[in-house]
Amino acid sequence: MEKKRDCKIVQDLLPNYIENLTNEETKNYIEEHIKNCGECTKVLKSMNENIQTNIDRANKKEINYMKKFNTKLKILKIIILIIIAIVLIIIGRKAIIMSNLSKKYEGNRNIKNYHIKTYIYSGTNSQVIDTYCKDGKSLTTLISLNNEKSSKIVEYSDNGKTNTYMESNNGKTAFLNSKTNLKIFNNSNSIYENMKQHFVKNSILASIRSVKCNGVDCYYISNFQNNIIPNGQGDYGIYIDKETGLPIRILGGTVGSSREINDTIIDYYYEFNTVQDEDIQEPNIEEYMINK
Ligand SMILES: [Zn+2]
Repeated sequence: MEKKRDCKIVQDLLPNYIENLTNEETKNYIEEHIKNCGECTKVLKSMNENIQTNIDRANKKEINYMKKFNTKLKILKIIILIIIAIVLIIIGRKAIIMSNLSKKYEGNRNIKNYHIKTYIYSGTNSQVIDTYCKDGKSLTTLISLNNEKSSKIVEYSDNGKTNTYMESNNGKTAFLNSKTNLKIFNNSNSIYENMKQHFVKNSILASIRSVKCNGVDCYYISNFQNNIIPNGQGDYGIYIDKETGLPIRILGGTVGSSREINDTIIDYYYEFNTVQDEDIQEPNIEEYMINK
């Protein structure tokens, strides 16, 4: 009877003993009792085992959780890599398109026999520029319409020597040995100059898509970093011939659905190796008043 009562006390104290919460005296008492009591030894052992199982279970849970977490982390990493890859492909595609166009343009702008017709519309102003070029000779005719006033400028150039013939409401005047003012490739040169200067920026920011313009397969490049049209504030859009790298149309000002009246449109038509000698005739100087 005495022993049974001791056992009850000892077993009540065992949880505290296991967790080392008993004082020295109690601890000695419990250990002394257990040494001589098979039943309490058993209870202690099973309590210890229970605790171990619980610890194992908790560990297992944690491991499973970590595994799940790692899988999620892996998936996240893959998704991020895929996004990075897509972004790089998009940027890379634009970079490749721009550098290919640039190469084609370099090849074509050095052709010595060409006919280019340019139409410029800007608000109430419009201009038509017609240029024939062959064997170092060129004839450029610019016709301007500005609020129903028209003027005509003809530049005749023979291997660097240029005469300019002007016709307006004030009469006809010729300027001999004048400077060339009508640089036909200026806009195209600026496009490629800007492309080079802001290559990375344009690769990232510009948008490039395939479209038809004036019957030609083009890339339409918008959100393009440049300063092509001096007065054109805001956006620009450029249509570039996929074959030649030459601009077919330039939009300046407000690009998009809500274009404004003063926005600029420039259209280009090109012919290569079709110009004949008779296309390049100097105007009859006798009809003009000569200005020196
Ligand atoms: Zn006992």
